[in-house]
Amino acid sequence: MQKFVELSLDLTQKCVKCGLCKSVCPTYPYIEEEAGYARGRLVLAEMVAKGELPLTQEVSQQWDQCAMCRRCEWICPNGVEYKEVLVHVKNKQRESLGQGVVKSLGLKALELMQTRAGRALIKLTGKVMEALPFEEIKTPFPTGAVKFMPKPTAEAFGLRGKVFKAEEERGKLLFFTGCMIDAFYGKTGENVIKLMNKAGYTVVVPRDIKCCGAPHYYSGNLPAFERLKEHNLKEMEKYEFDGVVVACPTCGGALQEDYKLDKPVYDFAEIVFKSPIRFRGSGNRLTFHVPCHSYSAMKVKEEVFYGLMERIDGDQVKRAEKDKSCCGFAGLFSVTNPDMSDKIQREKIEDLQKTQAKVVLTACPGCVLNLKDGVKKHKTGQEVMHLADYLAENLGEI
Ligand code: SF4
Ligand code: SF4
Repeated sequence: MQKFVELSLDLTQKCVKCGLCKSVCPTYPYIEEEAGYARGRLVLAEMVAKGELPLTQEVSQQWDQCAMCRRCEWICPNGVEYKEVLVHVKNKQRESLGQGVVKSLGLKALELMQTRAGRALIKLTGKVMEALPFEEIKTPFPTGAVKFMPKPTAEAFGLRGKVFKAEEERGKLLFFTGCMIDAFYGKTGENVIKLMNKAGYTVVVPRDIKCCGAPHYYSGNLPAFERLKEHNLKEMEKYEFDGVVVACPTCGGALQEDYKLDKPVYDFAEIVFKSPIRFRGSGNRLTFHVPCHSYSAMKVKEEVFYGLMERIDGDQVKRAEKDKSCCGFAGLFSVTNPDMSDKIQREKIEDLQKTQAKVVLTACPGCVLNLKDGVKKHKTGQEVMHLADYLAENLGEI
């Protein structure tokens, strides 16, 4: 029988069909079919790979409804590499059936935004938008999704090509800023550098890093991922550093797992956690949303985030019941699956609201975007911040 996808069956056959992943999958409650979570999606992949099922739009739709949060991998007792299976079947899906206009354009835009012209356009847009009296703009997408999107800033990419020296240097870190910090959240980038310097690390920001390629990899666009990876590795080779630091766990996961760097990759919070830095709060009640890729891809322990929050004198931490559930963003997923993304987001916002925290912290710029969007839509009044911003604003003495 003709095989429709070249896939090592060892990958799919590791699944013992226990169904544990159903309990943590954010999409299953809204699909309620076997193909709505990892076990069913893996069975489809295996059947297609064996040639028992043709690769049709109907089949591939089941994979497109996956947020690629990888909570299934995190809970799986058998070490099933779900991401690797899906990436290969989605690559074949792209070659045979295409990826749809919105996803293709979105991925192309991410590739082009880090060209000279792309960066210039974003800065110019930022300059034009500077005068607008609000931080986010309600943006409709052709799929029906509507999101409060952050404005680019005139200072976008402003950290590029600079070195920020620590007073007493104990090491040198290359900061892989990532597209969202580059274009929208430059202040977060500055705050990560401030924290690294305070912890004793000189920070080098490469001049010409492009998108890490994780959105392309997760979408099965392997040629685009390889192009971006090759470019970034060449650029990184130009600098001397002891390790890489990120403030986006999706970038960090890609660098750790798919770039095969010979240097360690750290989440910024891990570096701060190991330092003796303390923080001075102002009596706020805080809660935290643990980004899926921080534990499913980067394997950062949640104790690192909570440990840092406990170090903020005067503030109080109230843990949300479902602090590790997906926020519904998942990059392009929120645009291509707007109804499901909105439902997952609503569940998250309701859970955060129950904590009665004034400030919701998280450690991923994508989650920041989606939680800000969520609190605005559901009018909860909670403030959402990247953990790096909150810590840098509340620095105390070492
Ligand atoms: S938890 Fe792992 S082994 Fe169990 S069904 Fe899910 S993927 Fe398969
Ligand atoms: S990656 Fe996330 S959405 Fe996809 S099957 Fe696994 S748990 Fe479900």
